[in-house]
Amino acid sequence: MSVSLERLARNQALFREVNERLLELSDGFQDGSMQFVCECSNEDCTETVTMNHQAYESVRAHSTFFVIVSGHEILQVEKVIDSRDGWTIVQKVTESDYAVETDPRRRNGA
Ligand SMILES: [Zn+2]
Repeated sequence: MSVSLERLARNQALFREVNERLLELSDGFQDGSMQFVCECSNEDCTETVTMNHQAYESVRAHSTFFVIVSGHEILQVEKVIDSRDGWTIVQKVTESDYAVETDPRRRNGA
């Protein structure tokens, strides 16, 4: 395991950034749900999760929460908060300061 915790945190922050952009560019939740990229620590992960707006917002309401495909959690760096319909909400337990600093919503003052 040569991958640093910081590296893992950076990957997650990047995926979160992608999802926020997806949300921005989409027409919103037309059918009640949207597809997002998995926000796990694996930079090569290309899987997606489908969530409704309310569920996604419940993740973004916390700077240290991320949504990932169920089973992609790495329990050394995060703990499971909620799990359903193929996705899992995790909370960062390492590098959580970094997760807060890179929160796009916090940065935009939204
Ligand atoms: Zn993943």
